[in-house]
Amino acid sequence: MLILVVNCGSSSVKYQARDTSLPEAEQVLAKGLIENIGTKIPSHTEALAIMAEDLKEPLHGREIQAIGHRVVQGGDIFTEPVLIDDEVLQKIDDLSPLAPLHNPAHVLGIKAATETYPGVPQVAVFDNAFHSTMPEHVYRYAVPEEFYEKYGVRRYGFHGTSHDYVTGIAAEFLGIEREKFNAVVAHLGNGASTTAVAHGKCLDTSMGYTPLAGLVMGTRSGDIDPSVLTSLMMRNPELTAERMDQILNKESGLLAIAGDNDMRAVVNAMKDGNERAKLALDMTTYRLAKYIGGYHVAVGGMQALIFTAGIGENSSEFRALTIERLGALGITLDSEANLVRGDDPRIISTEDSAIPVLVIPTNEELAIAQATEVIVASA
Ligand code: AMP
Repeated sequence: MLILVVNCGSSSVKYQARDTSLPEAEQVLAKGLIENIGTKIPSHTEALAIMAEDLKEPLHGREIQAIGHRVVQGGDIFTEPVLIDDEVLQKIDDLSPLAPLHNPAHVLGIKAATETYPGVPQVAVFDNAFHSTMPEHVYRYAVPEEFYEKYGVRRYGFHGTSHDYVTGIAAEFLGIEREKFNAVVAHLGNGASTTAVAHGKCLDTSMGYTPLAGLVMGTRSGDIDPSVLTSLMMRNPELTAERMDQILNKESGLLAIAGDNDMRAVVNAMKDGNERAKLALDMTTYRLAKYIGGYHVAVGGMQALIFTAGIGENSSEFRALTIERLGALGITLDSEANLVRGDDPRIISTEDSAIPVLVIPTNEELAIAQATEVIVASA
């Protein structure tokens, strides 16, 4: 099936055209990124028209058969990918207060895709759907009931498509039935989250009501005592809620501590003896190791620890620093295997490590295309 995978942001559209009838490594027929929507390019409709034009040559005039959209927030309504109709589109729009930067852009993208490709079925694949199996005692916050009932204040989790995808690959790679597979997945990109997988499903994940919670990230603080916000805002009237939101999302994390949000630069600075970079790495790896240890207990003993995404797949230094902190679990790193680079799933722990550690490249576009095909084929 010729499937167009799109990720519509407020000012950009990222896309891939994939032919799912081909072997996975050959599926991508074209891909691209269109930026400056709202400035140079007036709207999502114009952006998708440019995309459709760019796709003509690589697709040799073949018709797109289905479109898969990455949608960040499905609330507790969408627990699986779904065929988009007017009602679904309205619900995605209604969920905008929970993802004000993302869902409105997805709605514009879906409407634009309907104009550009009339009659082509469209599927929404939700970033938090994989986390819908979290039990209530895990997803609830201990706050007044009204917050939950009226505002949907609970933990949702994100990066679900990636956590789900690498969990499936890892179980297959290790020859364990997915339903019997317990693992901890560390998706470490510019945004980062870790997930506790029990019996192949999400039991817990480090992101929460928004993607700000959990690990120390490129520019996000991760977990923080909420009193820091209220106390600072009460003492500094000029510190508005909007400004605080910006500081915690865009000016914190590695950037705040080490002065750079790119892990390569932070690792290099640490190697050059930069104390701030060392502190940033100590903070990020300590926080991650703390989550991994907690989740190991939560899942009743993980059968694998999985690293994925930009940092997880590429930074042998970051992985080594994290695994050093997991000695108490009997996890030991094979330093040579850790240095090997490649696309395939691979084990980077020693043979006598109590728990295998895997590096598995994530592929959210492939996962979205697969989900889209299943939904469209069964519709
Ligand atoms: P992602 O959001 O998954 O695309 O990951 C982006 C992040 O991965 C960047 O901010 C980098 O910090 C990190 N990254 C990518 N390549 C490397 C590398 N070779 N070594 C360390 N970090 C890397």
